[in-house]
Amino acid sequence: METTSHALLGAITQQRPMRRKWLFPSLKIDSREISTEVARQRHCDHLRQEPRVALQSDGKPFYRIQCPDCGEKLSNQLPHSSVPNRETCPQWNEELYQRRFLGGSAAFEQSRAAAVANRKAEWRAVYDRYLASADWQSVRQRVFKRAHGTCEGCLEAPAREVHHRTYAHVGDELLFELVAICRPCHDRLHPNSSTGYSELLERHLQDVHIYGC
Ligand SMILES: [Zn+2]
Ligand SMILES: [Zn+2]
Ligand SMILES: [Zn+2]
Repeated sequence: METTSHALLGAITQQRPMRRKWLFPSLKIDSREISTEVARQRHCDHLRQEPRVALQSDGKPFYRIQCPDCGEKLSNQLPHSSVPNRETCPQWNEELYQRRFLGGSAAFEQSRAAAVANRKAEWRAVYDRYLASADWQSVRQRVFKRAHGTCEGCLEAPAREVHHRTYAHVGDELLFELVAICRPCHDRLHPNSSTGYSELLERHLQDVHIYGC
């Protein structure tokens, strides 16, 4: 079985060599990556674990263990008898606890925004390298050849540039996803490209999303 499938794979590979040289970063980010990063940032060994007293709504005291360093709640209500020196037991630090608690979601939001921004920057870096590559030059030449050197926007001016109609297969485009175009027509397509990237590309990158939340 092994040999057969390898032989088959070999035949297919020979027939149609893989062109996938340009691997763009995925636009999907696993939320577990972010959670792991947040957990790393917020890590506390809770080396100090101390009983703290708080009041129930009826005014009766109750005790539970808190980490005085990070504020984490480390136990549920303790039996009174298990707490030594109840008279001198320090107060439960609700503010620290809330900060720890709310800090978790704030840290997650922060890490999430950073992960999205990083992924977009990585994607653009690969795209910039691609546009500067011989591979892209070769793709451009084929598109110009198809268009007989004439702009496919106006069929009048000589084509000078190549425009992406979609980024779905960027790095390994089907040639009908690209058009040969003259500068004025290209300007009409990208009237507000202040970032240097087309709005279509920016929209493509808006698809960067976190999954598994
Ligand atoms: Zn702690
Ligand atoms: Zn034109
Ligand atoms: Zn364009």
